[in-house]
Amino acid sequence: MRKLEVRDLDLENKQVLMRVDFNVSLDKEGKISDDTRIRAALPTIRYILDKGASLVLMSHLGRPKGEVVERLRMDPVAHRLEELLGRKVLKLDDCVGSKVEERVKKMGPGEVILLENTRFHAEETKNDPQFARGLASLADVFVNDAFGTAHRAHASTVGVAKFLPAAAGFLMSKELEVLEEILTNPKPPFVTVLGGAKVSDKIGVLLNLLNRCQDILIGGGMAYTFLKAKGFPIGKSLLEEEKIKEAKKIMEEARGKGCNVLLPLDHLVAREAKEGVETRVVEEDEIPSGHLALDIGPKTIELFVRSIKKANTIFWNGPMGMFEIEDFAQGTRAIAKALAKSRAAVVVGGGDSIAALKKMGLKEKIGYVSTGGGASLEFLEGKELPGVATLSNKS
Ligand code: AMP
Repeated sequence: MRKLEVRDLDLENKQVLMRVDFNVSLDKEGKISDDTRIRAALPTIRYILDKGASLVLMSHLGRPKGEVVERLRMDPVAHRLEELLGRKVLKLDDCVGSKVEERVKKMGPGEVILLENTRFHAEETKNDPQFARGLASLADVFVNDAFGTAHRAHASTVGVAKFLPAAAGFLMSKELEVLEEILTNPKPPFVTVLGGAKVSDKIGVLLNLLNRCQDILIGGGMAYTFLKAKGFPIGKSLLEEEKIKEAKKIMEEARGKGCNVLLPLDHLVAREAKEGVETRVVEEDEIPSGHLALDIGPKTIELFVRSIKKANTIFWNGPMGMFEIEDFAQGTRAIAKALAKSRAAVVVGGGDSIAALKKMGLKEKIGYVSTGGGASLEFLEGKELPGVATLSNKS
């Protein structure tokens, strides 16, 4: 990597400001329901502390939109981090200002402070330079390990890097290395599996990957804009009318490049997206007008699994159906199982795909699970992520 990495830094007696992605899932009672993101940052945290530095951590949590939202304070995160790290973690009630500065000044080597939710300040998402300067004033060096927010140009991801030497943490480096490898050096056949609700989020990645993939498998709600573009009836299934043209263009371009775009051959349809409703399997051109397709059918599963079995490189983002409802989870389950069995280099990104893997107990069987859904998609679109672009260069 040509960007500075945490292992390149002299950390002894330094004060380190580190952006982490502690935007964890919370349950209705505000308890952490999934601490994967905290665990993912531990190697960099431990390394920095072992090298004799003091560490100020910062993250956003949820979408407080520039206001203090009690439910989105970082206290539960600090407690969980303390348990996982086996060291005291002091949580402050703000992330900038004189009180924070005074406390941070008193830190000694090995001490850990977690700042309050950065998005309690509207300046964070506006990448306000004064706010960024305030954050940067807390340390000698900046480490960014928040791959999940690297596609956002915010004060805590991009702004601070203008004021301090800025290095990638281990998680950031690993994510970039894995994604770079599948983008620039994928072992063929390279198969991409895309699903989920929205076509619009995935157009960039489709256009960039059709130059590299042998097969692109499209399932989930987004498939119906493509089927509509091919002239099939889609009933009440999800449709992004304004993306039909682009769907056509993608299919034409893929044909020209020798990339197969595989769409559902059959569907599981119902009158309503509800648990326990009557469902049936119909052929690709038979979705009744009053029904909506909520999962891929058995022929499609067979087609997709056959392609996955041949692959040496696989990227998956987005469920094949409305998997949150068990009646419509078959397609996603079949894909998840095929990926878990595959000996290919498998990379999975996106909150819903990861939730599906967890629900099915298959997450540990997947080669690489990215912590960044949007960030991994933008990287694979071929875009330089702002949070990476602003890191210092190695020289
Ligand atoms: P996205 O955020 O675009 O990846 O979309 C994820 C969501 O897509 C999940 O909540 C799924 O329930 C939903 N989804 C997947 N397939 C379908 C479908 N055929 N119809 C409606 N929603 C779907």
